[in-house]
Amino acid sequence: MSKELADLIFPNITKTPEDYEKMYPARNLPEGAMVTRFAPSPTGFIHVGSLFGANLDRRLASQTGGICYLRIEDTDGKREVDDGINLIINGLKVFNIEFDEGPTSETEQKGNYGPYIQSERKDIYQCYAKSLIEKGLAYPCFCTAEELNAIRERQEKLKIVPGYYGEFAVCRNLSESQMIERVKKGDPYIIRLKSPGSMSKKIKFKDMIRGQIEFPENVQDIVLIKSDGLPTYHFAHAVDDHLMRTTHVIRGEEWISSIPLHVQLFEVLGFQMPQYIHTPTIMKDDEGSKRKISKRKDPEASASYYKDNGIPKEAVIDYLMNILNSNFENWRKQNPHADLSEFKVDPHKISSSGALFDLVKLNDVSKNTIATFTAEKIFEDGLAWAKEYDKDLADLMEKHKDFTINILNIERTGNKVRKDIAKWSELRENLAYLYDEVYFENEVTYEWQLVTDKTEIKAILDEYMKVYDENDDKDTWFNKMKDVAEKFGFAREVKEYKANPEGFKGHVGDISTVIRVALTGRRNTPDLYEILKNLGKARIEERFAKI
Ligand code: GLU
Repeated sequence: MSKELADLIFPNITKTPEDYEKMYPARNLPEGAMVTRFAPSPTGFIHVGSLFGANLDRRLASQTGGICYLRIEDTDGKREVDDGINLIINGLKVFNIEFDEGPTSETEQKGNYGPYIQSERKDIYQCYAKSLIEKGLAYPCFCTAEELNAIRERQEKLKIVPGYYGEFAVCRNLSESQMIERVKKGDPYIIRLKSPGSMSKKIKFKDMIRGQIEFPENVQDIVLIKSDGLPTYHFAHAVDDHLMRTTHVIRGEEWISSIPLHVQLFEVLGFQMPQYIHTPTIMKDDEGSKRKISKRKDPEASASYYKDNGIPKEAVIDYLMNILNSNFENWRKQNPHADLSEFKVDPHKISSSGALFDLVKLNDVSKNTIATFTAEKIFEDGLAWAKEYDKDLADLMEKHKDFTINILNIERTGNKVRKDIAKWSELRENLAYLYDEVYFENEVTYEWQLVTDKTEIKAILDEYMKVYDENDDKDTWFNKMKDVAEKFGFAREVKEYKANPEGFKGHVGDISTVIRVALTGRRNTPDLYEILKNLGKARIEERFAKI
């Protein structure tokens, strides 16, 4: 027992672990409810892998009637930025990921298991460290950086496992009175775990994705409390996930090698282990070979990339769900309009090998997602994006709100829904040519096809205007197009033309192309009949006059 040493090191810590156990009792939740947490450092940067994890945290808690909380891991002060917490909260809100407990801004928090910012939990960690010292399971280490270097060099020479353990852990073997003396003298120290592990023993661990894994026991006397009085990730993980009553720790697979240490920490602290889901690293295909998606090289590694490019949050989350559970894609096909919460994520179905992230595939998903939106939603979401990223387009959309919604509504229902928009940054390309302000103030490059002779084009347009009536139904309208075709020596039907290509200049499609290009400059637009109707006769005439 080292009560005197513990009191000397932590004189201000008066609470005991039992006090905290009472303050943070087991959560009163229904059987099977998962308590998950998203635990970022407050760097403000949200990696797409973190978004993947946070989405999984949120989904699993929601679908089981549990709790998903946010915990800010700021014990490594180096990585902090001003406003880092807000950036994370808002960056995830963009994707509809919100938390039941945790910080709600830089200064406010909600929930009964806080504080949810690690730097505000110093006393709690120190209380548990103090208790471990009392039990002889932790000790102060006075080794300087030079001494630790010398140990490492010796180990390198001997070609043995590096680290602070066994005979190399010199401070573990100091007597209590030696430790007391050095603390009193003012020698700087940190607190280390006195690992009870043995190199010859193995532990078994079960990850929900990877199944059973065997590891050698931890023997390292790892640092629990650093010289600044704050805990290391490992110690904080054990204390926080225990006291916050996390049932499922979802984190990146880079932590799996720390499992033996975490198992041991939970054991010496007398805590029950949570379940673990170590998520696969998000990979990218780089010219045929797979590599980790990189913050430095790949703009799509940042969650903000999607907002900046106007990829709807629904599409990004749907795509992450595809990567998460391969059966999601099929489910989505069958339930294109269903709320995400109707899909039950199965953690056992998550692949354990690197998850391949493919922007081309995301683009496809996004086209399908937008195809399920109403014209009004496309207008609203597109406008919100444009207000931030394309002010000029936003102004036009607002000025011509009804017209824009009508245009967006073309081919929006039925069995041939338009899939021409993958992201809001493509809206300009899809809309601008229909606004007169843009059309008449800019040089238009007409993409003529078969008919290129100006005189003939003008004659066709004149004739067309003679017969065009905006009140015609679609069949009547198309019949009139055929009449014009015939008049100019073009076949009324494509079939007719194909049977006798020598007998005609072209077919009705070539005539509608003349009309379409004269009206918009482009060969591809949504349904021409609808575009004409929405522009109205006067504007059609003005546009034709520009030729
Ligand atoms: N703060 C850790 C990280 O950013 C969290 C890991 C965890 O979820 O436990 O990697």
